[in-house]
Amino acid sequence: MYDAAVVGAGFGGLAAAADLTSKGYNVVVFEASNELGGSAGQFERNGYRFQSGATVGMGFEPGGVLDSLFGRLGIEKPSMKSLDIIMDVHLPDRTIHYYRDRNEWYKEMARVFEGPGTAFENFYDEVFKVGRLVDQLTDKLPVFPPRTWGDYAHLLPLVNESSLRLLPYMTQTVEDRLKKHGLDQHRMFRTFLNGELMDSVQTSVENCPAFLGFAALQTFHKGAFAVHGGLAEAAGKLAAYIREHDGDVLMRHPVHSIEKGDAGFTLHSKRNSTFEARQVILNNSVHNLHDTLTEELSSQSYIRPQKETAKKAWGAFIIHGGVDADVFLDTDVLYHQFIDPDHPDDLHNGGQFLLSLSDLEDTRMAPEGKRSFTLSTHTDISPWWKAGHYEDEKRWMKEKLLRTVDHYFEGFTDQLDLVLPGTPVTFQKWLRRRDGKVGGYAPTGKYSWLTSYSVRTGIPDLYQCGDTVFPGAGTLGVTLSGLMAAKQAAKGLK
Ligand SMILES: Cc1cc2nc3c(=O)[nH]c(=O)nc-3n(C[C@H](O)[C@H](O)[C@H](O)COP(=O)(O)OP(=O)(O)OC[C@H]3O[C@@H](n4cnc5c(N)ncnc54)[C@H](O)[C@@H]3O)c2cc1C
Repeated sequence: MYDAAVVGAGFGGLAAAADLTSKGYNVVVFEASNELGGSAGQFERNGYRFQSGATVGMGFEPGGVLDSLFGRLGIEKPSMKSLDIIMDVHLPDRTIHYYRDRNEWYKEMARVFEGPGTAFENFYDEVFKVGRLVDQLTDKLPVFPPRTWGDYAHLLPLVNESSLRLLPYMTQTVEDRLKKHGLDQHRMFRTFLNGELMDSVQTSVENCPAFLGFAALQTFHKGAFAVHGGLAEAAGKLAAYIREHDGDVLMRHPVHSIEKGDAGFTLHSKRNSTFEARQVILNNSVHNLHDTLTEELSSQSYIRPQKETAKKAWGAFIIHGGVDADVFLDTDVLYHQFIDPDHPDDLHNGGQFLLSLSDLEDTRMAPEGKRSFTLSTHTDISPWWKAGHYEDEKRWMKEKLLRTVDHYFEGFTDQLDLVLPGTPVTFQKWLRRRDGKVGGYAPTGKYSWLTSYSVRTGIPDLYQCGDTVFPGAGTLGVTLSGLMAAKQAAKGLK
């Protein structure tokens, strides 16, 4: 009997499993696919290595969430490049260099956004102040939103003068704060913020709770990294740590169902194999929760299937490709965001998308003289499941994205070596994300955080982590939720 079983080797599951391992517990991780890292995993084709979804590494700066985890485990971080310019944002009439350094960023804002006095600086001062307060709270790994008296009891000591200063930002949207600074009608600044918020919180200023949006915006400035060999290298190191400490990470081992008996949980995997564990952590997303549990267990959860499917979640359209390195000789910047000149407010279906280039120094990602790249944009899920339109839609999206990059980097489409488009159907197939939903839930207003799912499933000794759980998407966010889940599971093992 294992102390704990973790279903899914995404960043959330691996962080949870590594943390429990470091506390001396015997852990097994089940991964359905052949790759570690899930949406931040990798695959190889024709001499290229591609990142399956996530490309920008966060939380690796000294004291950051992943840096601290690696430090605590005593393992080295993968080699990586720290980005001075997080990305170039290409707008119709200007390119914004999104600097990591706060002072550089303030200078850049003064250059690219015309506007009232110091309003941009004042807005960002608030972003940093609120972001710091949110970090102080999440560092304590609370169960949030609280569900039990114990969760409230744990939160109470965290309520102090500084955390109370967060309250106004939990009852307003980012747009409300823009109004206070006289910036809500500033089209360019709003477009820029929408681009960054879509990539981090999956929504735009009018729907984004201010404390979540500000925490995400400040995170970019703490450190952004291109991990050499891809983010999956970090996942590989966590898995190696678990294995070296007598834990098991079982690849190509989908968990088909989980039941509970008197002694603990039984997990059913391939070829009728069964495994026993005292505690379970699900990292296969809340979208799949009810598919994984027996009806009896499922009925004990507070997460209701109908309510869950009604929550807004995006899919992703992605192109993995290879291109001649010459095309990007004029830029040192690895990440480029494009906002459609004709529809700057359409933040999905190619209206806004990210190009991630492999670092020239990173020889594992591409053959000599070439670079691997990823283009990714949010997309509505349902059209991809309607028969008849799939191939046309895929072709249309592919051409739209490639054409836009070609507009900014001449010769791009002529120098392509390999183009592999992927849709929500692809994400369901390879990562088992139901209907191809990725990136967690999109906030829908100032109070939408109240309906977030915490690491509690409502089923004793069975927890969850990952991008569908507070604090949400991104490798940093899911690592935090993994640590939150591990903390609760460890309490049950004492
Ligand atoms: C296109 C795209 C771009 C992104 N860009 C960034 C970025 O630049 N930076 C960033 O930080 N984040 C980014 N993200 C978000 C980030 O990738 C995710 O939030 C994060 O990786 C999700 O981690 P997770 O722990 O929720 O698990 P997932 O990544 O969802 O992994 C879950 C794992 O569980 C496995 N699994 C599922 N069902 C079972 C089962 N029954 N049995 C066993 N295993 C199972 C799956 O195979 C998968 O490996 C991006 C996401 C996408 C889709």
